[in-house]
Amino acid sequence: MEWEVVIGCEIHTQLATKSKIFSGAATAYGAEPNTQACAVDLGLPGVLPVLNKEAVRMAVMFGLAVDAEIGRRSVFARKNYFYPDLPKGYQISQFELPIVGKGQLAIELEGGESKTIGITRAHLEEDAGKSLHEDFHGMTGIDLNRAGTPLLEIVSEPDMRSGAEASAYMRKIHSIVTYLGICDGNLQEGSFRCDVNVSIRPKGQEAFGTRAEIKNLNSFRFVEKAVEYEVERQIAIIESGGKVVQETRLFDADKGETRSMRSKEEANDYRYFPDPDLLPVVVEEDFIEALRKTLPELPDAKKDRFIEQFGLPAYDAGFLTSSRGIADYFEQVVEASGAEAKLCANWVMGDLSAALNREDKTIEQSPVSAEMLAGMLKRIVDNTISGKIAKEVFEAMWSGEGDADAVIEKKGLKQITDSGAIEAVIDEVIANNAQQVENYRSAEPDKRGKMIGFFVGQVMKATGGKANPGQVNQLLKSKLEG
Ligand code: ADP
Ligand code: MG
Repeated sequence: MEWEVVIGCEIHTQLATKSKIFSGAATAYGAEPNTQACAVDLGLPGVLPVLNKEAVRMAVMFGLAVDAEIGRRSVFARKNYFYPDLPKGYQISQFELPIVGKGQLAIELEGGESKTIGITRAHLEEDAGKSLHEDFHGMTGIDLNRAGTPLLEIVSEPDMRSGAEASAYMRKIHSIVTYLGICDGNLQEGSFRCDVNVSIRPKGQEAFGTRAEIKNLNSFRFVEKAVEYEVERQIAIIESGGKVVQETRLFDADKGETRSMRSKEEANDYRYFPDPDLLPVVVEEDFIEALRKTLPELPDAKKDRFIEQFGLPAYDAGFLTSSRGIADYFEQVVEASGAEAKLCANWVMGDLSAALNREDKTIEQSPVSAEMLAGMLKRIVDNTISGKIAKEVFEAMWSGEGDADAVIEKKGLKQITDSGAIEAVIDEVIANNAQQVENYRSAEPDKRGKMIGFFVGQVMKATGGKANPGQVNQLLKSKLEG
């Protein structure tokens, strides 16, 4: 039997407002527990929530970015459940009338084609607090700093057909919200988390299978892994005559497997009803139109521009626009270095990205700034250093030894372009390798191209890699042939 995988995602993005969605308390991450929770966040009797307009603005910006209908009148509702980190006994969310309605976006598939994924809705809600299980022996601590932090929950249509598509979708949403500046996108700190709903059905069948929901995935890679595991699990169940039960599951990243958290029977009945403390939110046409004018260039448009303006291959343009930070960095390097865009792209995608990955740093944390990289590229372009020596310069800049010129000076890496000096070395190499010279000269001309590598290597060795490779090749050829 051939199975088709069906996936829909719910992504929680923390909106980057300074204060909470219904109170004036700060949202900054990492403060001492319970120092950023006011009476409203604590759910004390008699307090009233006041909606943060900035959260509304950010939600509408998102809606515009994914081509969605904006809910001109949306309503906050109480979602009732009991949990220690939810002091009011209900979460304020939106249910029947969300602020963002149907929209869509494109994801890129392997091989370069794109696929449209439907957005069902996006609604505003408040985050809950956190339970701290590790800090107190035999007890659970409650930190309410996160309580009341604004979230935009983005719900997709069940349009994805593989873990790779789900992860591409999550990346796309991530790049949109960070381009818009409405979310800091920090996966480790929980600012961006994804619930993935997975089911399978026999290929060709229209009706969906029963889904399992894997909660709180905070890495693109985990999404892919969790889906892969889940699909195998569901296939095994069905093929051995069993039935998938609708349930919530958790992904264990260490073991690479999902396990049951609660089944549908234990699921809550949230008894949603409109929150009587909050007025419906009415968004006027001019508010929407004014915001539309402030929309920044979004990832797809930027990618098209990079292809057009810089003549980059689609792959490079996609890579470089995957985050606004990388795109800005790349553009600064091009601008400041005056080097060819492709050379700049190669360095950003190659050595720089490798170094960032190696040390698990974001581009914003790169010890080599765009200016520093541009400074080094200038020295490649003006032939002060070769591309190979540049790798050494880059690593030195990375470990804090100063900018390119300082490193080149200090380490004596300046390229030798004086042809007299190069010739002298070549003469020595030729004199010391009489046998190889003879082999070369008696070889068929079409074999010589390969054989010259030996001599180039010797010259480079003798000059510490500093001789200009183009000149070495050219001079060697004429001396060997002559
Ligand atoms: P709930 O809020 O109870 O989790 P929803 O109906 O709002 O349920 O769906 C949540 C997510 O699950 C959506 O992204 C939707 O596309 C997806 N989904 C719904 N049914 C299926 C299914 N059978 N297989 C995979 N995903 C599904
Ligand atoms: Mg759900």
